Amino acid sequence: MGVQTHIRVLSPHVINKIAAGEVVERPASALKELMENALDAGASQIDVEVAAGGRKLVSVRDNGSGMDRDDAILSIERHATSKIKDVDDIERIATLGFRGEALAAIASVSRFRLLTCRAGETTGTEILITGGKMADVRDAGCPAGTAIDVRDLFFNIPARRKFLRSQETELAHLREMFIVQALSHPAAGMSLKVDGRETYRLAAGATAEDRLRDLFGADYLKNLRPVDFRAGAMAVRGHVSVPLVSRSDRNEQYVFVNGRATSAPVLSYAIREGYHALLPGNRHPSVFLFLDLDPDGVDVNVHPAKKEVRFRHPIDVRDAVIQAIRQALGSSPVQGGGPGERPAAEGALPRSAASVQLRIEDLPPTRTFMYPRMATGAGDTAPGGHPLPPSVSPAAPQGQPSPEGEAGPAGLPVSSPWVWCRVVGQIGGLYVILETEDGYVLMDPHAAHERVLFERFMADFADGRVQTQGLLIPETVDLMPKDANRIRKNLELFKKMGFGISEFGGDSFVVDSLPSCFSAAQPGPLLIDITHSMEEAGARGATGRWREESIAQAACKASVKARDKLNLSEIERLVVDLARTEMPYTCPHGRPTLIFTSFGDLNKKFGRE
Ligand code: ADP
Ligand code: MG
Repeated sequence: MGVQTHIRVLSPHVINKIAAGEVVERPASALKELMENALDAGASQIDVEVAAGGRKLVSVRDNGSGMDRDDAILSIERHATSKIKDVDDIERIATLGFRGEALAAIASVSRFRLLTCRAGETTGTEILITGGKMADVRDAGCPAGTAIDVRDLFFNIPARRKFLRSQETELAHLREMFIVQALSHPAAGMSLKVDGRETYRLAAGATAEDRLRDLFGADYLKNLRPVDFRAGAMAVRGHVSVPLVSRSDRNEQYVFVNGRATSAPVLSYAIREGYHALLPGNRHPSVFLFLDLDPDGVDVNVHPAKKEVRFRHPIDVRDAVIQAIRQALGSSPVQGGGPGERPAAEGALPRSAASVQLRIEDLPPTRTFMYPRMATGAGDTAPGGHPLPPSVSPAAPQGQPSPEGEAGPAGLPVSSPWVWCRVVGQIGGLYVILETEDGYVLMDPHAAHERVLFERFMADFADGRVQTQGLLIPETVDLMPKDANRIRKNLELFKKMGFGISEFGGDSFVVDSLPSCFSAAQPGPLLIDITHSMEEAGARGATGRWREESIAQAACKASVKARDKLNLSEIERLVVDLARTEMPYTCPHGRPTLIFTSFGDLNKKFGRE
């Protein structure tokens, strides 16, 4: 041919290997293809305009690579692509597109205009196509990059046009698609104009966190925790919501695999499992997860619109996502903050991540605490010069500051559901009311206590530091044969965990000592609870440390049940201890420890704005 073109038409052999299907269903699918092309072209700025729910216009302008005249003409041919060449390339796709179908498909069902120019060239190319027929090709002046206008979608296929929904519905799909693309590539600046009005202008060079803030507001970020996890060549990053806030649908679950918005059954499963026992079955978290792995570990050639992918090693992906979520939920809040924040109320302690001192004012009944926060701790002195209390957290080694403005990496930070809080009182003889910087919290002290005991015990056990306390009077416990069998089979483990249990003939056992933190529990009910807990965990197919954990869960429950009323100072202690746990939001059995209501929600309920 003589002329070097970057785009080429795929051979029939390759075409046959490609999952075929309709790519343009509605205006939002055209928007998806155009924005993905812009991203593949390396654009750092993408400006979108839509009119009349996309029926009249979907326009995408980018400052990416642009095309020369030959490429521009080829780009609207079917199966013409610059992104793959042969069959093997399908196995390792690093771009968003690869089928070479989108522009041809869109141009065949619209009045289509392509204006494009390569960087450094003085003239660009303009191509006009009407319902798939080339109407004009000419030189045209334009900035480097590509602009595509899609007008009157389906004008030549009335049956398809009829099936479009109302303008509002189509617009909702367009906005959602814009948001998905905006989330997928935060470094690219993006804007969206709807019927002439700018609805989004998102700065270029943003981090994932900036992008979330720009799209959903600073308040939204406060309920998210950063995810930053690596397993071999796989990375899982992003943000996930704390269990305190959840939704009744899965509409806020975004997963990007190598930059592509996508789904896979194994991902949904992993997200559910990551929140196992943290959320009731009918509630769903918000997640924004970026999975990066070697392209040949992912098959994107599954679905015509590439909505679903398959993984070569789904188990590894599943485990990495579960661990990433679990680790994130044990970390510090995202630094929401910034201007426009509610100023601290008169007399209230300021919101400051630098406050690491535990301060209890001596004025009942309105005591206020500052909770230890590790996020910005440097060395063993807080930025304000206050020395850190000696036992801030066993999980946070001193002299290992986490980077400023970011929740720290693996295992470092203490999660605190609040920066400061005040115990307001107790209601119903049970629930504790706390005021925090953002609203109020109802705490179930039993559930909270279980969580605290559980984490303390599991940490001690892991370090081989469990202390045992002898009982004044050893107790003989008779069990049902089935329960007795479970205890018998695990006698060694019980001993390792600090339980002094020995056989006493038949189905009877003698308990002469317990781990110190469980010494309040009654040995009889405790053993029965433990066998039931193990049975349940076994039936659920629990893995890993399930046996130890189910024993500890039962022990926590039994020893909390055995306690009488908590007095105010015990409650205050509990609030402090709970704020230091890794998973403060639920008890070890998955019941909530805290129910949070924000001042924003209250204002809404009272009709204030
Ligand atoms: P695919 O993206 O699957 O390759 P498309 O039909 O979407 O197929 O695009 C065909 C080709 O046109 C692409 O491979 C690319 O080379 C070129 N192209 C499309 N959009 C752009 C753009 N915005 N900037 C630069 N090149 C583009
Ligand atoms: Mg494409």
